[in-house]
Amino acid sequence: MEHFPIFLATTGRRIVLSGGGDAALAKLRLLLKTSARIAVFAAHPAPEIVQWAAAGKLTLTKRAYDHGDTICAALFYAANEDDAEDKRTAAIARAEGALVNIVDNLGDSQFITPAIVDRDPVTVAIGTEGAAPVLARAIKADLEERLPATLGTLARIGKAFRSASYALPFGRARRDFWRDYYFNTGPEAMRESEAAVRPALDTLLQTHLGKSARDGHVAFVGGGPGDPELLTLKARRALDEADVVIYDRLISPEILELARREALMIDVGKEGFGPSTSQATINDLLVEHAQTGAQIVRLKSGDATVFGRLDEEIDAIEAHGIGWHIVPGITAASAAVASIGQSLTRRGRNDAVRFLTGHDMKGFADHDWTTLARPNEVAAIYMGKKSARFVQGRLIMHGADRATPVTVIENASRADQRVLETSLGSMAEDIANAAMTGPALTFYGLAPRAAARAAHDIPLEETA
Ligand code: SAH
Repeated sequence: MEHFPIFLATTGRRIVLSGGGDAALAKLRLLLKTSARIAVFAAHPAPEIVQWAAAGKLTLTKRAYDHGDTICAALFYAANEDDAEDKRTAAIARAEGALVNIVDNLGDSQFITPAIVDRDPVTVAIGTEGAAPVLARAIKADLEERLPATLGTLARIGKAFRSASYALPFGRARRDFWRDYYFNTGPEAMRESEAAVRPALDTLLQTHLGKSARDGHVAFVGGGPGDPELLTLKARRALDEADVVIYDRLISPEILELARREALMIDVGKEGFGPSTSQATINDLLVEHAQTGAQIVRLKSGDATVFGRLDEEIDAIEAHGIGWHIVPGITAASAAVASIGQSLTRRGRNDAVRFLTGHDMKGFADHDWTTLARPNEVAAIYMGKKSARFVQGRLIMHGADRATPVTVIENASRADQRVLETSLGSMAEDIANAAMTGPALTFYGLAPRAAARAAHDIPLEETA
């Protein structure tokens, strides 16, 4: 970083500009937004400059800039549109101790003026060290569009409320209050009128004061397999009341929609084998928010107690004396078995069912293959796509029948649900060919019941 960005206090400070043409006008339009004392030196100033001088916005001296003119000035702009004159004036200003900018001459300038997005008092300065002015302009245009015009007003009203906010404990409680103001309550009140903002702030402060008096709490909520109608009533209520929702990748957008609009939504999505928010970070987030008195919903897909790393999170918050409870949800195996019209257990076929994970922290997970390889065993394999070949190999090696039915249900309960009917002998190849991108549950030892098969229009050729 060759150019270090700073925000210069301009009140009472002297800024001098040499030049009276278009380049001078462009710079002055910007400088007039500040509270600096602006002095312009120009033998032939443009009419606007004369008007600004008459209105008392700047002082104009109708002659060329010269020695002594930058005494006590912080900044000097050479905007003469004449290289020789820029060079002459810049040399004097530099000698008199002002920081010098020569318009359109990056190499000889001691500072540059960034592209500015102005939502006073919120100011965004964008600089590319002269490398890509086009890029700076594009970023500026993008931000201009994105930042509401009312942001400045909100910030000004907020600034006047700063000392009132000190009633909240320093740290997260206060930060949460301001976040709520700038992103929810403030813009909402502003839609009504500017006058509505201050009363809204008063109410918001009372709400947050009430909150920080409460003890933080974490509800570990099972979000089910994806269909929002498969949420429990308890899960819905918890979502309705949450201040903070910390959710996983598999939670569907329709379910997130059900959370309170003011709730802080934190995505800690885990990508199979890919990058993810570390468990330690998730634990820290839970503790941090609970310590401000937040009512947290830790939303996990399916049932939180099934392959959900729930115990690690409970240990972390218990270590800080934070209260918690679990709201059960419908696990993927339940949703998947329903979609193929089968039972997880059935008298005379299997009186036990196993929930397995295809991989654990060490890689592909080992299981009691000998028992599983016996006839009529049923297992629901979670996270089983990548480990399909491994599971297949182990079971065949332990004597399982290659014709044992295997059914893979992708996106169970969701609009894009798919069912793949296969067998132990061909499962790895079929799963690879199906190129499934959604979460998939593999049933070992279960084929779709005939009626369910018809309803889902499942291809039959893979059935053993
Ligand atoms: N706690 C979750 C499981 C988390 S592990 C539960 O109880 O369902 C993630 C695995 O769950 C996925 O790899 C996939 O095997 C399975 N899964 C989750 N949602 C699913 C869905 N809608 N359809 C099929 N499998 C799903």
